[in-house]
Amino acid sequence: MAEKDYYKILGVSKDASKKEIKKAYKRLAKKYHPDLNKEDPDAVEKFKGVNEAASVLGDDNKRQQYDQFGAAGSQSSGYGQGFGGFDFSDFAGGGGSFDFGDIFDALFGGGGRNRRSTGQQRGSDLRYDLEIELEDTASGAEKTIIIPRLEQCKKCKGTGAESEADIEICSQCHGSGMVTQMRRTPFGMFQSTTTCPRCRGHGKEIKKECPVCDATGLVKKTRKIEIEIPLGAEDGTRLRVTGGGEAGEKGGPNGDLYVVIHIRPHKIFERHGNALFLEAQISFTDAALGGEINVPTLDGKAKLKIPSGTQTGTVFRMKGKGIPNMRGLGTGSENIKVTIEVPTRLSSKQKKMLEEFDKSLSKKGFLGL
Ligand SMILES: [Zn+2]
Ligand SMILES: [Zn+2]
Repeated sequence: MAEKDYYKILGVSKDASKKEIKKAYKRLAKKYHPDLNKEDPDAVEKFKGVNEAASVLGDDNKRQQYDQFGAAGSQSSGYGQGFGGFDFSDFAGGGGSFDFGDIFDALFGGGGRNRRSTGQQRGSDLRYDLEIELEDTASGAEKTIIIPRLEQCKKCKGTGAESEADIEICSQCHGSGMVTQMRRTPFGMFQSTTTCPRCRGHGKEIKKECPVCDATGLVKKTRKIEIEIPLGAEDGTRLRVTGGGEAGEKGGPNGDLYVVIHIRPHKIFERHGNALFLEAQISFTDAALGGEINVPTLDGKAKLKIPSGTQTGTVFRMKGKGIPNMRGLGTGSENIKVTIEVPTRLSSKQKKMLEEFDKSLSKKGFLGL
């Protein structure tokens, strides 16, 4: 059988990037799609060919094997089904409801961040518990956190080798990261494919190790990261810093950093949702005659009018003095519950005045008694 040239089929060069391959595939798959080429009997075969080429060149492992061993190598590599077993009629049958996205994901591993070539591994996610003040949730404060994490070694760019020349294709698996073993049993010859023990699936061997990272490709670093506290953040709010986690192995993607917010209890305010509550004492003359008092707010203080005849336990609401809503839906209120302070030390003059006042009341006892 003549060797198929997948690069030629897709019309791309041997060193084409994954993006170029994807682009070429998208163009050709549309061009030869059987639904759009009902008149052309060759379209089905061409469509199949394009799919097969893209399934190999779009997959790092298969492409590497194909480059080394040709089509046969890429098909028998043991990485699941080749595209040969893929029935495109599933896509074509639905009366033109052809979703290229599905095929791209199947071919190019869209979304699956762990589906990388052998050896690459996504870095770990990290969690940081951040204590903040209640005030920070109303002002959108910025915090600096310091986290230790694994980062890619700058010296070897994550390869683990002292220099580029120290990286060689694994002599046992020839770069595929997999080895095939034949076993003779009473029932016949059996073939099994396993991860290469020499390179542990990396497909590469390092002749001289990077002295900085001990060939791991990773170094421990302490990083300062700026965290913006979202307005209205709540206790337990989790912020994700994409890529803020540890570096991946062998050039794999970074993990994420999760910052979990904890709000310290406030000395004055109690928070319920986005509303604030506090208690304030007012003099009994202010309660009786009316007046104005200063009350604390999250950003300083505000004046609160006390109407005459205010009873103890009355709650006054100051709109917009609470915590902003996290989804931008307004700001909560500050609620002040007043209690009336009864004077404990009266001068004899004050006492006399109060007795006069008392006499002026037309008194009725409890329940009119
Ligand atoms: Zn190997
Ligand atoms: Zn290194």
